[in-house]
Amino acid sequence: MSPPVKGGVVTPLERALREQIRSEGPITVEAYMEACNAYYYATRDPLGRDGDFTTAPEISQMFGELVGACLADCWKRAGAPAEAIYVELGPGRGTLAADALRVLRAAGFDGAVHLVETSPVLRQAQAEAVPGATWHVSLADLPAAPLLLVANEFFDALPIRQEIEGAERCVIETEGELAFDREGKIVETSPAREAAAAAIGTCLDHCGGVAVFFDYGHDRSAPGDTLQAVRGHEYAAVLANPGEQDLTSHVDFEALADAAADAGALVTPTVTQGHWLNQLGIGARAAALAGKNPERAEDLASAVYRLTARAEMGDLFKVMALHGPNWPQPAGFE
Ligand code: SAH
Repeated sequence: MSPPVKGGVVTPLERALREQIRSEGPITVEAYMEACNAYYYATRDPLGRDGDFTTAPEISQMFGELVGACLADCWKRAGAPAEAIYVELGPGRGTLAADALRVLRAAGFDGAVHLVETSPVLRQAQAEAVPGATWHVSLADLPAAPLLLVANEFFDALPIRQEIEGAERCVIETEGELAFDREGKIVETSPAREAAAAAIGTCLDHCGGVAVFFDYGHDRSAPGDTLQAVRGHEYAAVLANPGEQDLTSHVDFEALADAAADAGALVTPTVTQGHWLNQLGIGARAAALAGKNPERAEDLASAVYRLTARAEMGDLFKVMALHGPNWPQPAGFE
């Protein structure tokens, strides 16, 4: 639980939220998280050393290349359908898409690229990294085609609901400060995440394809408060500086799996990112790159460590894939 720490400065979004609370009453944690992240992502590129957080594709090109290799392998085993499309949800700077598509193109994939992104700032960065892409605001707008879909740290940005003894937790204003209306044993659910997983499951059932999700979270549903704020690579108070810091929570992979399976997709087990990258051969990829660029050997070794080590992203981050009933299971989940 994060106490509502005061920063002194009231952000533009905080002013709007306070007005809303005064005129309409408490707002749910879900509505609060949705409003904060919509504002946050629409107004900045949050990635990298000078931003708020760093993601796997920004650590090393190897991450996107192995995603590309995984998708290319499935696409070939499915008979290399020409109508398949590359889809990415929340592509950030477009780095993962560029790295994955380099591998997919080399494997003969010539399909269109569709990016689901709401932020105008990040769409601009994506346009530079992935020329010729088509953008969508929602998954519902994707064309009906076999999908080669990836989402890295997308689900964790979608809003969650918090309940305490069956009552939905809300944000209120007390003594001029934003505060939670209740404390206690928290159960989190995310209708938005489940709806996204179900929509993808339906597409895979109808048109075929595969989808691979990476996020930090747990493979089994469990109670607990996992809502957190990150700013400048440090944890911050959830109710401080609304719209100026990234709000995320642990992704419940079991809930995503159930929603996708109910919609008709086949679901792999959830494995750790370290396991998956090792299965896909990140060690061999690093050795090949280091062989060609000996001066980069140290950087490559450190990237492998950050992406796969238990003490780094290797254990906390999980990977799960979905596939259409007539599509092969992606590699790495054995
Ligand atoms: N996948 C990227 C960026 C992760 S940050 C990477 O790994 O580097 C989260 C991304 O999801 C951003 O691109 C953000 O703008 C996007 N996003 C957040 N909420 C969204 C929503 N509701 N619909 C579409 N995109 C969203």
